[in-house]
Amino acid sequence: MQIRDISRLHPELRKIAEKLQQLCQNAGLPLLITETFRTKERQDELFAQGRTTPGSIVTSVRYPDSAHCWGVAFDFCRNLKGKEFDNSDKFFNKVAALAKPLGLTWGGDWTGFVDMPHFEFTKFMPGSSTQTLKKQFVSPENFIKTWINTVESVSEKAKNVDEALNGGDEMTNKEFGDRLTVIEGKLTTIEAGQGRFRYIDENTAKIAPDANDALRAASAKNAPAYGANGFDPPLTIDMVRQVVWNYRLGLYE
Ligand SMILES: [Zn+2]
Repeated sequence: MQIRDISRLHPELRKIAEKLQQLCQNAGLPLLITETFRTKERQDELFAQGRTTPGSIVTSVRYPDSAHCWGVAFDFCRNLKGKEFDNSDKFFNKVAALAKPLGLTWGGDWTGFVDMPHFEFTKFMPGSSTQTLKKQFVSPENFIKTWINTVESVSEKAKNVDEALNGGDEMTNKEFGDRLTVIEGKLTTIEAGQGRFRYIDENTAKIAPDANDALRAASAKNAPAYGANGFDPPLTIDMVRQVVWNYRLGLYE
């Protein structure tokens, strides 16, 4: 798991982060989410920075008093090398203006320790304090156990895929390919950090081993779309992609 993995956030906040990414993209603001959930180890390491280890002080709180330790905060910067924290054009304020209506508190509005690259989920952080969470759940572990896994069930995912693919008879190969790209993007978000299914190369000779697993699984199940005789004639790359995400959806289990 990477520290910037938004799938480690509270499920509702993850959706908000995705929405913010979309809004920023539409507005031409190159947003990069840099850190989401923090383990105790990570918070300890950050707390030591500027105190007992080199660097400047970056946090004023110990575990679990950062919203990050509870999965209800994320940090961001500008996705532009050398200009990550440049606010001369009010980049951070512009992102914050899009974020606040989504239910986020911006660290740039704080007095005292101003934290411009920080958002937290207002709902769980009234007064920008973990007090409410601590009172109710005691520990981040207990809180995380209450999260409802909003990643759709396999059947829901399959239904969504069907709907996404159901473009009618007029769908061209390109449209079909475009739809697959969208679905793959969604799955990649769902599975972020798992390190599986990283690519399907255009050259079938270079298909990732995971794709071969998918093809074998589909073949073993006589996947209806491809008949009982396996894959003859050879699949197009988009058909391979379809097999792979069917496999990822668990349809061949
Ligand atoms: Zn932060």
